[in-house]
Amino acid sequence: MGMGTGAEAKMEYKRVMLKISGEALMGDQGYGLHPPTVARIAREVKTVHDLGIEICMVIGGGNIFRGLQGAAQGMERATADYMGMLATVMNALGMQAALEAEGIFTRVISAIPMDQVCEPYIRRRAIRHLEKKRVVIFAAGTGNPYFTTDTAATLRANEMGCEAIFKGTKVDGVYDKDPKKFPDAKRYDTVSYDEVLQKHLGVMDASAIALARDNNLPIIVFSLDEPGGFRGVLEGKGTYTRVHG
Ligand code: UDP
Repeated sequence: MGMGTGAEAKMEYKRVMLKISGEALMGDQGYGLHPPTVARIAREVKTVHDLGIEICMVIGGGNIFRGLQGAAQGMERATADYMGMLATVMNALGMQAALEAEGIFTRVISAIPMDQVCEPYIRRRAIRHLEKKRVVIFAAGTGNPYFTTDTAATLRANEMGCEAIFKGTKVDGVYDKDPKKFPDAKRYDTVSYDEVLQKHLGVMDASAIALARDNNLPIIVFSLDEPGGFRGVLEGKGTYTRVHG
């Protein structure tokens, strides 16, 4: 267990990555996109955008399709993974619409080119969008099967020079065991990348953690269900876990 969160309270962020799972968009529906939930998350993003912070986003696709599920049902893994990547494009467009409804300019940038729908990934162009205070949503993961959107978020966060990845989840940090199953589960204030890997703490998959560790990119795990949570955590308030070296 680390020390309190106070030490981070004065950290000022200029550019951040927000990673959310596809499931965060489905509300209580159990599948797909729930527009009021997408709109609620867009408002959370707006409160941070209002601070002048540059925002990158990666949204998963698990609310629509997961490659592993397809593979378990006999589909070739790579094909199933491409379907999963396409699902993330749908989520990105849904989030773009919700952000635009809040008056925020956004760009969806896909790792798999589909020029009629969104922009292809060109690193310098993406950075320019951020400098112009557009929220940049990176879609289609890394563009490669056998990866996840956690790895995509870590990759893009490194490429864009983000100061940290904010991983919005259903719980307010990283616990030593599942807090929904075990009432005595303990939350870490801080935890090292290596401890996350050794204890299989389930923050992100191992390749994403390793990529963050090798580039010293902090991961901040917080609850997306907490109203005002994203902005609060950026300001060092509330409860969260900081994963770092
Ligand atoms: N995916 C992939 N390569 C990537 C990112 C994602 O093949 O770089 C596929 C993979 O099949 C995955 C699906 O897209 O299951 C949806 O992404 P993910 O599971 O990360 O979504 P989340 O759990 O965050 O909703």
